Order: sequence, then C-alpha cells, then structure tokens
Amino acid sequence: MFDQYERDINYLRVSITDRCNLRCTYCMPKEGLSRIGHDDILRYEEIHRIIRVAAGLGITKVRITGGEPLVRRGVAEFIASLRAIPELKDVSLTTNGILLDGCAENLFAAGIRRINISLDSLDAEKYARITRGGDIRDVLRGIRKVRETGFSPIKINIVAIKGFNDDEVLDFARLTLENPYQIRFIELMPLGHAGIENNGRYLSNAIIRERIETVGRLEPVDGRGNGSDGPARIYRLTGGAGEIGFISPVSRHFCRTCNRLRLTAEGHLRACLLSDDETDLKGPLREGCADGEIKKLIRGAISRKPEQHEIACNERHIKKCMKEMQEIGG
Ligand code: SAM
Ligand code: SF4
Repeated sequence: MFDQYERDINYLRVSITDRCNLRCTYCMPKEGLSRIGHDDILRYEEIHRIIRVAAGLGITKVRITGGEPLVRRGVAEFIASLRAIPELKDVSLTTNGILLDGCAENLFAAGIRRINISLDSLDAEKYARITRGGDIRDVLRGIRKVRETGFSPIKINIVAIKGFNDDEVLDFARLTLENPYQIRFIELMPLGHAGIENNGRYLSNAIIRERIETVGRLEPVDGRGNGSDGPARIYRLTGGAGEIGFISPVSRHFCRTCNRLRLTAEGHLRACLLSDDETDLKGPLREGCADGEIKKLIRGAISRKPEQHEIACNERHIKKCMKEMQEIGG
C-alpha cells in the first residue's frame, strides 16, 4: 500500500514485549521502566490477527523485536504460526543475543533465517557497563550458535557512542575480514529518557567510515552502498568475507524511502519511529471489531505517516521522541 508520498509500505516491525533482560544505558533508565501490565500486552493471537490483516494490505516483511523478544515465552511457536499467512515473504528477528544459544535451533525450525544481534562492545567489561550487567560470553555463544545452525545473513548492530566504543571501530570492522557477518554501525538517536544525554554522545557515521578507510578500501556491495538496500549503506573491505553497513538516521535521513510501520507491545501502530503519533489497535480489537475496521485504522495510520522526521545532528535543533526504544520496538 502506498502512502501520500508514494512510499510502498510493506514492512512491519513488531515489538512483542517491552521487557528486557538488559538495561542498555542509551535505551533504558537503570531501574528499568514501569512495565506495561501483563493484560495490556497484545496476546500472540491478537498480534497474529493484526499481521494477517496488514499482510492483506501489502505488508510482506515482518521483523520481531522488543524489548528483548526472546524473553517472551512461546516466541518460536508464535513465529512458526506466521507461516499460515501466505503474503508474508520474510520474518526476521532482532535480539540482544543473551538467550540466543538456547533458542537458535527452535527459531531456525520456526523459519527465521535473518537475524540481527546487538553488540556494542567486544570488551567484556565495557559490554557489562553499557548493558548494566550483561555477560558478553552469552552473546558470543549465541553468535557462534546461529552461525553453526545456518542463519544467514547474521547482522551485528553496534550503536556508535562517542567516548565509549569509538576506539573499537577498527576491531569491529576487522571482524568482517574473516567472518561472514554484516557489521552495522548505527547512529545514536535522541530517544526517550536518554534523549538529551545521548545527544552529546552522538558520533556520525562519516567519522566512523573515515577511520575504517585507514585500514582498507570500502567497496560498495552490489550498488547497495547507495542506500538501495533499505536504510543501510553496505560495503566490503577489499577481500573481506563479511560486509560493513552504515545506518545513519541522524546524519542522513532515509525517510524518503521509509517503508515501515511499527506495532508496539501494547498494540499501538506507529507510522514513524520518531513521531509520537500512534493509532490504538488493541482497544478496537478487544471490543470485537471486524477485520475491516482494523484495515481502516492501518490505512489511517499510513495516511498520516510524516514525510520525514525532525531529528538532526545540529545539537541546537533536537527533536526528541518521548518514547523509549524498547517500548516502540527498535
Ligand atoms: N533488545 C533487542 C536488541 O537490543 O537488539 C531488540 C530491541 S532494541 C530496542 C533494537 C535496536 O535498537 C538495538 O540494536 C539497539 O541497539 C537499538 N537502539 C536502542 N536505543 C537506541 C538509540 N537511542 N539510538 C540508536 N539505536 C538504538
Ligand atoms: Fe534491551 Fe535492546 Fe534496549 Fe538494550 S537496546 S535495553 S537489549 S531493548
């Protein structure tokens, strides 16, 4: 389905929980957040129904995210149930990787192939610091397991943070020389509680790229260096087994080609990550509305999708989105 700016909206990111087993400093306050009550979280059957109706409107790709999706019981069975929706061509997952070792085989059997794993440092002590207590060994075991199990592509997401992991850029980049991972640098966005604080720690992808180019040439992969592969610009260090991606929501808006909708864990549809305009689907759903009503609400949300968001790297012009990333679904 096309919006008023002729963008084909075919991708839905679904947060299945706002809960998380980590507390990344840029994403959550240390005490965690007041959680959405158990009854207010969409049940799997409700999420399934919304995805089915959205697929009837042209959604062909779904990414399961959170919070941390793997903390919700029954996630693999839920993902397997999405096979019953014929229009869906691709279901993928974003995870912090902590529980991945134990879940990988079930997720693979459920049909997941494409997986994104967040890892903001390769140093155990720094990883524990940024995640407020995470054990990097769990994530590394998870990454090994998904590789052995046959997932592909395996994408590793690094949020670039000035003064924290800028000294690790080259170590991350070098990983792609030997390993078939796509290492993706994501610019820190001014979201939620940490919005203003995050702003001073922002590091542009242009700087990261410059540093990587001191060790090797970055060759655009199949034309994807120009942004035709969604928001990431993809490169390869000459001779490398893996790829390096840059996702630059702050310095280089990808709004013009944004094809996404997001469903929050409490059943609200967001047409833009960085606009707090939400459409409640859970209320009508629980009042017993027909599929036609859900369709109307989804169409309405798409019709209000803004042309572009307003964050910018100029620190004097900063528009903060009030919701936390783990509530919205990153
Ligand atoms: N818990 C899972 C994880 O960490 O991968 C899935 C949810 S998390 C909200 C999804 C992605 O959003 C992660 O890669 C995380 O690093 C990223 N993220 C969270 N807050 C962010 C921010 N303020 N700016 C940029 N990326 C952010
Ligand atoms: Fe949890 Fe992911 Fe947010 Fe970290 S980034 S606190 S792992 S939801």
